[in-house]
Amino acid sequence: MIAKIRDRLFSALPLRSLRARIFVLILAVGILPSVLMRYGIVENYEERAVEQRSTSVQNQLKILANQLTSNNYLGNYRSEEQTYRNSREVIDAELELLSNLYEGRVMIINSNFKVVQDTYGISEGKTIISEEVIRCFQGENISHYDQEHGYIEMTVPIMDNRPSGQEGEAAAIRGVMLTSISTDSVASTMEMMSRKALILEALMILVIFALAILLSIVLTKPLDRVTEAINEVQAGYSDESISVSDYAETEHIVDAFNQMIQRMRVLDESRQEFVANVSHELKTPMASMKVLADSLMAQENVPAELYREFMEDIVSEIDRENQIITDLLALVKMDKKVQDLNVVSLNINDLTELILKRLRPIARRKDVEVVFESIRPVIAEVDEVKMTLIMTNLVENAIKYNKDHGWVKVVLDADHQFFTFQVSDSGIGIPEDALAHIYERFYRVDKSHSREIGGTGLGLAITKSAVLMHRGSITVTSTEGEGTSFLVKIPLIYIAQ
Ligand code: ADP
Repeated sequence: MIAKIRDRLFSALPLRSLRARIFVLILAVGILPSVLMRYGIVENYEERAVEQRSTSVQNQLKILANQLTSNNYLGNYRSEEQTYRNSREVIDAELELLSNLYEGRVMIINSNFKVVQDTYGISEGKTIISEEVIRCFQGENISHYDQEHGYIEMTVPIMDNRPSGQEGEAAAIRGVMLTSISTDSVASTMEMMSRKALILEALMILVIFALAILLSIVLTKPLDRVTEAINEVQAGYSDESISVSDYAETEHIVDAFNQMIQRMRVLDESRQEFVANVSHELKTPMASMKVLADSLMAQENVPAELYREFMEDIVSEIDRENQIITDLLALVKMDKKVQDLNVVSLNINDLTELILKRLRPIARRKDVEVVFESIRPVIAEVDEVKMTLIMTNLVENAIKYNKDHGWVKVVLDADHQFFTFQVSDSGIGIPEDALAHIYERFYRVDKSHSREIGGTGLGLAITKSAVLMHRGSITVTSTEGEGTSFLVKIPLIYIAQ
């Protein structure tokens, strides 16, 4: 019940389909890199643009800082009043230009933390004691990007590299340029890039989507073809073996299917043939019985002896009929694997003698000599009916497939564990390629010949099943045109499993 629900659930899931899986896979493999690429490009651009902008501003500021020092902008030493004023104006103009160019604000702070110049003109004269400024006075250059508010803040020291009178004295930091520049242009470029990348990405997704649909259909098409071909065979439109050689996998499936069909056909054919044979076999005794009965009825005042004679013939035909039916039942029983062996302790020598006695008349008809060689007396635990079946089938075959004036030799032997029953003949032999098939049901080497002599192809199948039921083995050696030898080996004591 639970398994049924689970199966239903799974079959309802679209991912059970190979087509859907291929589709999802291609989509994932195609889309993921394009999304990652977009993020990568945009992020990378931002980083690089900010870095470039801050470096170039910092460089310009450094140049300016040098200029400031050389022009005594902070008034650290006395100079000509006029020159000082002139150069200050030039520098202020440059600062203005810089702040305009980079959409930023530049403040110049002297060593007293006083703002001496502010390009915005609002903080001049004010005191700024911020962490950045203090750290810059300590010799640390700071550049900090505030992504949220869209600006870069940086500090550049103004060094006093003029000779201070004392040699070897390190250049002192006289002031700090505190600058903040807008990154709006970076942001807008990024936005534009991102928009373009998004469009490109959408296009790519569309193409990948189409590709995924196409590929999932194309790649699974051969499987549809396999199903179609199998359905055709199943519906009976085609008798031929199917072929879908697009993939090695489909070829394997199709090969396996063809083999199965082939087997089924062979089985079906042999079944049909078997039914035909059985009917024929069953009809023959009936026909002779009818002939016998008819001839009796056609005559008037039939003498009692003739009645008796005809009746005896009819009885023997009934016996034959009975035998065939018994064979069929034996086969069906083996088929169903009803392993109800009726094991009894039996004298195998006596049994063999009895069987050979029954078969000798048939051998005599072909002038085949039947010899029995008993090496030692054998008592074994066997099922009498099945053992009779084994021996009869083998000896009967040895007579049936013999040449005229040939011989059949039966040798019975035993060791402490097994007894062996060997039937050799001087018959027509079995071709080597047929040896592997002789135990198959309905298999006959030469169908027409076998039918002629009343074979149904069941004898050895029954024999082998019966031997295996006794936990024994059967082997065959044969040379075409010279003869055949079957060796049956059966345990003396039957051990039930
Ligand atoms: P059948 O009823 O046709 O004899 P079996 O199952 O007994 O069927 O044997 C299968 C086939 O094996 C036979 O058709 C025959 O061709 C071959 N065969 C069996 N025994 C012999 C033998 N002793 N010599 C030659 N061929 C044999």
